[in-house]
Amino acid sequence: MPNTTRQTRENRTITIDFQNEATYFQLLGDGKAFVEFVIAFILSLGFQLKHKAMCSGGGCLTRHSHYLRVRLGGVTIWRLQCTTCHAVFTVLPHFVLRSRQMRPEVARDALLATHGGLSLELCAVLCHISPMALYRLICALGQQSLGTVLTRCGLPLPVYFLADEKHSRCLTNKVYVPTIGCGRVLWHLGYTMEASAAAFTQSYQEFQHAALQQEPTYCVRGILTDGFDSTIKSLRTLFPGARLGYCLRHAINKLPGKLTAIASPVRKALRSQFHTLLYRARQRKSLRVFALGQRLRHFADHVTQKAGVANGERVRRWVQEKKAGWYAVLADPQMPVTSTVLDQAHNAIERKLCMMKGFHHPKGSQPAFLRGLAHLYNLVPYQRRAQHAGQCGVEVEGGTVPTHDWFLNLQILTSGGFR
Ligand SMILES: [Zn+2]
Repeated sequence: MPNTTRQTRENRTITIDFQNEATYFQLLGDGKAFVEFVIAFILSLGFQLKHKAMCSGGGCLTRHSHYLRVRLGGVTIWRLQCTTCHAVFTVLPHFVLRSRQMRPEVARDALLATHGGLSLELCAVLCHISPMALYRLICALGQQSLGTVLTRCGLPLPVYFLADEKHSRCLTNKVYVPTIGCGRVLWHLGYTMEASAAAFTQSYQEFQHAALQQEPTYCVRGILTDGFDSTIKSLRTLFPGARLGYCLRHAINKLPGKLTAIASPVRKALRSQFHTLLYRARQRKSLRVFALGQRLRHFADHVTQKAGVANGERVRRWVQEKKAGWYAVLADPQMPVTSTVLDQAHNAIERKLCMMKGFHHPKGSQPAFLRGLAHLYNLVPYQRRAQHAGQCGVEVEGGTVPTHDWFLNLQILTSGGFR
């Protein structure tokens, strides 16, 4: 057989909630009603279909063709076509997963177990699937960018955000996971093999690129980091107009490490005084930047008195190096103050990175896998006893999700056929 070059087709699959399987099979017999149902559902979401370039989408949708998913017991899947641009959309009913024979119930349980912290292997054993099938499922979710899915939920692109990298390991290599988060949602979860400014710039640029495609006038006002040099350099390159602040909590936690060869109570007392200093500076609104400069000088003097010249000098140099970043936090009331939520997100992701051997599969796509995990992080609701019980991160941040079912939301929102 001649080996014809395969055309890479655009993924124009859309998942439609038909409520129950009986409705779907009933509608299969009535083409007009089927198309109307699909259109009504898309309208209810407020989404638009991804037509070909130059098509306004004003044309009609007609039934184009159908095929049988034999492995799913012969479910009929219909394709719809735009009469203007001839783009073809594959309509997947809610009970079928794209390119996968796994039943949604199985996928749902396995993903929830994964999100909850179980290893791929254990999830796979519990749900009677192979670890690789689960790994591929997560990678498939990660085909859509985080920004695309979050803006589909009505969340505005973040004007202020947190940026930080998780340092991790992949077999013997050190790897880094550059992350952008805002409140309870992750906007970027990248993957680099180096901790250089160039590598981080490349990763954060993916977020910037996706954001500018959504909104050409997108502009960042403020970014909070932990003050890591490569992070600062990369963000300054990409977002020259943004205020770059350093996490205050991180500063408080770093201080004890600057104080050597002193008794523990003295170190604790100094940390507590430093905490009070930053806390008070935050409370005073107008004069706080000026006041902070003075207080930091006094604090360094105080360290010299209590812990000796060497420690005093070390703290003074550290303050000198970092204070611009603390000022930046205090000068704009809208700036995030601590990166605690991002640390929490990293810890949640880290548990999966360590445990999942599938992650280290040579043919695996780490970036897609990480994005898939991030979608779960944003869309799986918090447990019953959590502060935001029953809500997912997207909802906590004021976004809306298509249905009450998180897994269906995941299916719909990561569909390739929506614009
Ligand atoms: Zn069209």
